[in-house]
Amino acid sequence: MSKFVPAYLGGTAALSTEPVVGSPDVERSDVFLPGSEELSKGEIRVSILGSGLPWVTKSQAAGSVLIEVGNSERDVFVFDLGAGSLANFSGLKVPVTSLKNVFLSHLHADHVADYLTLMGSYVKAGRLDPVEVWGGASDDPARGTATFVDLIQQALAWDHASMAGYVPTTGTHVTAHEVPYDRTETIYERNGVTITSFPVIHALNGAVGFRIDYDGQSVVFSGDTKPTMTLVDAAQGCDLLIHETFLPAETFAELMSFPIEQARMVVNEAHTPANAAGLVFDMVQPKMAAMWHCHVVDGYIDAVFEGVRTAYSGAATLCQDLTVFNVTPGAVLTRQAKIDPVQQAVIGPSTTERSLDKRLPTPTWWADAAIDWQSKLG
Ligand SMILES: [Zn+2]
Ligand SMILES: [Zn+2]
Repeated sequence: MSKFVPAYLGGTAALSTEPVVGSPDVERSDVFLPGSEELSKGEIRVSILGSGLPWVTKSQAAGSVLIEVGNSERDVFVFDLGAGSLANFSGLKVPVTSLKNVFLSHLHADHVADYLTLMGSYVKAGRLDPVEVWGGASDDPARGTATFVDLIQQALAWDHASMAGYVPTTGTHVTAHEVPYDRTETIYERNGVTITSFPVIHALNGAVGFRIDYDGQSVVFSGDTKPTMTLVDAAQGCDLLIHETFLPAETFAELMSFPIEQARMVVNEAHTPANAAGLVFDMVQPKMAAMWHCHVVDGYIDAVFEGVRTAYSGAATLCQDLTVFNVTPGAVLTRQAKIDPVQQAVIGPSTTERSLDKRLPTPTWWADAAIDWQSKLG
């Protein structure tokens, strides 16, 4: 029987071999309670919004990672926005207004589906500031991040027009920044935060990973990738390495009812099976190795740790939705968040003034068809 109890079965601890690495400077509760801890200077807090696979389940949203930093601006960054990930966001009590820096590792649907929620529905929840999106260029511009962003804007034409005159639409505005698909490059330097993108091997040109450096602490996010040297090089010296990890092909085939050939293709040709993830972790030696984008299913958890352990003996965590890492000087603390499932969007400050567009004309046929319920009901 596994010592790891997943959250969907009532487990309250993170699935970690070593929840406390180093010596945290302040004492904290065993479970992360959103809203109860101020970020300290030099701290990076990483919350897994989505830990799962393209086939979303109630227990695991598709891929997404939220990063908050303890600078005076309290900058917030989101890396990928898989389906269901924003359902985990509100419970963390991070202001919806702070969601304006979006980094996309690649454009597989399981990493971007909730981008529509961010650009449409979350504007109605109170987002006022324009969004910036960073993501891979492509050898075919039609597959680049700028084209994706532009086409989603077009696809949301009805949604965005529907807000005119009712809610401010400044939050629907977006700027796309394409990052190189073939070389490592610093792509963001603001308020003491540096973000570097590096190419990874996944499906097509255009898949990238990211490294976030703030005040001496660093987190690396692989996106989806096969084991790749560009990542190993970019990740050297990092505190937390979040690396995609798949079940071994045979186990994956069993769980997914896939033919073994298909499972081998998915796991070994496009992704990183657990033993290979162990090899990457061993080459990087982060303070904490986080396995992400992996099935968290009772009965299959030990297979992930056993796989990683074939090549890596350091601290390791299997990410679930709402696993939280506090990266501070000299320590990485790993916990599960306990959230209120009915917590509504928290509104924080915005830099954009609140203003309304001109309302569009009402369709003429509505006058006859609308039921005047207010006068009927008094
Ligand atoms: Zn992918
Ligand atoms: Zn994926």
